[in-house]
Amino acid sequence: MWESIDRVIASRRDAMVSLLAELVRSPSVRYQEGPAQMIMAREFRRLGAELDVFEPKVEEIQHLPGYSPVETGYEGRPNVVGVIKGAGGGRSLVMNGHIDVVSAEPVENWTVNPWGGEVKEGRLYGRASCDMKSGLVAMVWAVDALRRSGIQLVGDLTLESVIEEECTGNGTLACRARGYLADAAVVCEPSGLTGALTSMGVQWARVKIKGSSSHAAWSDLGANAIEKAYVVIAALKELERRRNARGHELYRGMARPVFCNPGVIKGGDWPSTVAGNCTLEVRMGVLPGQTMAEARREFEDILHETVEQQKDAWLLKHPPVVEWVGFQAEGCVFDTSSEYARVLEASHRAVVGTPLKYKVSTGCNDMRFFSLYHGIPATMYGPAGTGAHSADESVDLASIETAARVYTRFIVDWCGVA
Ligand SMILES: [Zn+2]
Repeated sequence: MWESIDRVIASRRDAMVSLLAELVRSPSVRYQEGPAQMIMAREFRRLGAELDVFEPKVEEIQHLPGYSPVETGYEGRPNVVGVIKGAGGGRSLVMNGHIDVVSAEPVENWTVNPWGGEVKEGRLYGRASCDMKSGLVAMVWAVDALRRSGIQLVGDLTLESVIEEECTGNGTLACRARGYLADAAVVCEPSGLTGALTSMGVQWARVKIKGSSSHAAWSDLGANAIEKAYVVIAALKELERRRNARGHELYRGMARPVFCNPGVIKGGDWPSTVAGNCTLEVRMGVLPGQTMAEARREFEDILHETVEQQKDAWLLKHPPVVEWVGFQAEGCVFDTSSEYARVLEASHRAVVGTPLKYKVSTGCNDMRFFSLYHGIPATMYGPAGTGAHSADESVDLASIETAARVYTRFIVDWCGVA
């Protein structure tokens, strides 16, 4: 049976590479996910799935654990879910992937068009070619092959193309809130054909610093908010140092699992004016086991301490203000002794021929919404690529086909064949 399914998969190579290129050419950056989601809806429909295209509603998810605060809604930015009903009675499965992508800036650092989907020497290039339109294509490829092979599953299979993985996770949260639960979930991120033992927690904060403007020729009269912003970066680096020193048993082999990154800085508006304001947006890694409330308090305390140590009269009187907007993602851990892990291991080994390796991750993904809040075992498994969130991102096309072959086995073994 597998030989003929693998032949079906191989026969669909050109179609699947075209689908990936089509998806890459639809730049689904935040707020512009709609057109790419219509491509996914078309594909899920083609697979015979019952389609549910819905915009998450903040009022329906904001009270739920795992929710991340946002300042805009989701109009025109749907999740796309496709359900393939099984014959009944078997174990159910969710396959999850995100359609949202980070920007391609700075575009001048690329040597290819970030939205071109160019293919060279077995790789497809472009923003999200790897993270993670490759995973969405592997998911479609696998289900397409099962369908063409006439396989009817016993358990239900739910396919999800979600928004907001790169900034809040609210897309996957909204799918759970809508009632799409299952006995297991695969997050089809490009993991390099490995499993994920962990997902790192991530918190975003916006830190506002008030200054006092004056003419730069009399800078002593003002308080430069850009200069004062050093205190926030110092606090961020101290937080990173402490979290890494504290560590976590699963991250023992890693010198620096936690990264705290000042990602955006905006301040002032004129070279000859002392900057009257400055805002930083930062990303902090949070080791599994620490709650969001604890992690927030830890940063606020360190920021407060750092301000005190500086003995800066202005900052003592006008301390930086922290706003928690975007990611409030707790870390989580996958149980590799579970039945799920056994089935994934067998599926991987049957295709790749080597034992399945697991990685501890310094990044976060949507695994947490399944395992932490619904007790649904979930790991991440998908194709191999390079350059996620950086220039010249690309994916190894052969690895998408390999992931699709592993998925077909996993789906059949997990859900059962009628
Ligand atoms: Zn991703």
